[in-house]
Amino acid sequence: MYGGSKALFFALSRSAALKRLASRYGMATPDSFARRFIAGETVEEAIHDARVLQERGMLLTLDYLGESVGTTDDATAATREYLRLIDVLVASGIERNISLKLTQLGVDVDRATCVDNLRRILDPASRHGFFVRIDMENSPYTGVTLEVFETLWQQEYRNIGLALQSALHRTEQDVKRMIELGARVRPVTGAYKEPPPVAVQQKADVDAAFRRLMRLLLDTGVYPAIATHDETIISDTCAYAAERNIGRDQFEFQMLYGIRRDLQSALVADGHRVRLYLPFGKQWFPYFMRRLGERPANVGFVLRAVLRER
Ligand SMILES: Cc1cc2nc3c(=O)[nH]c(=O)nc-3n(C[C@H](O)[C@H](O)[C@H](O)COP(=O)(O)OP(=O)(O)OC[C@H]3O[C@@H](n4cnc5c(N)ncnc54)[C@H](O)[C@@H]3O)c2cc1C
Repeated sequence: MYGGSKALFFALSRSAALKRLASRYGMATPDSFARRFIAGETVEEAIHDARVLQERGMLLTLDYLGESVGTTDDATAATREYLRLIDVLVASGIERNISLKLTQLGVDVDRATCVDNLRRILDPASRHGFFVRIDMENSPYTGVTLEVFETLWQQEYRNIGLALQSALHRTEQDVKRMIELGARVRPVTGAYKEPPPVAVQQKADVDAAFRRLMRLLLDTGVYPAIATHDETIISDTCAYAAERNIGRDQFEFQMLYGIRRDLQSALVADGHRVRLYLPFGKQWFPYFMRRLGERPANVGFVLRAVLRER
């Protein structure tokens, strides 16, 4: 079921009919089902939630949702939205940290345009002291994401980091390369169903690989962002750091908005740094479907919410 549900929900996320149906109900009211995982469709809604979370001691990274854009115009529009987000975050005093995807900036259309768009975001982001994390998409994009990252790193951009997926066979080498560069890594298990030549298939193996990356990054990485909701991996991370005298300011935990809120608060209360990934925007459907694919039990709560709203 582990990989199967991811594949099923990935396929469903391409369905225009389902997207129309979800769009009608998912965000309609403040209690609508998609709001469990997504702050809202507007930047104002995201800022509202960000303030509440910041008051609770959470660190944040904001994500303007969007991916797989097919035209230069759409990539330019997404870039403009990120530039607006930077202005709004500066004006609002919310933490200066954003996450983005290369397919949102046009990597499928033309790599040079994507690099230009990313640079247009990184320039004001650097001026204003932002950190910009590039999310990792499914495996056809791993190579290009690393290449674009290195291009910008060679151009002396230092306010950037990457997510890398423990499920992929290649990731340990990629993490070592990032460590060599001195770049910040966010290890994640991986949200996409990947084929056997590319990735391990059993959840236990994905988690074991994650633990190896966690130890490698704590020992030799630069301020790693341990991104998981798995309680045992989190307590192993705390134990490993304590054993090696690695301070709580040397790494952070990252979790997704709306997932394991109890664990998020407990870690903050215990003095750990916890950064929440706070997504917003109209293009929330594929992100939402990945959250269902990770935990099919979520479908039950969606159906109950839809029936309540009708
Ligand atoms: C900050 C952050 C950024 C990420 N960025 C990327 C990225 O760039 N690329 C990428 O491929 N993936 C990314 N992911 C997703 C990641 O790859 C996993 O798909 C996701 O975190 C679930 O795996 P897990 O390690 O949390 O553990 P799991 O073992 O899947 O979950 C542990 C526990 O967390 C809870 N949980 C997990 N998922 C859900 C859910 N959807 N709904 C409700 N409860 C849930 C359950 O209680 C579960 O028992 C990111 C995750 C985080 C936290």
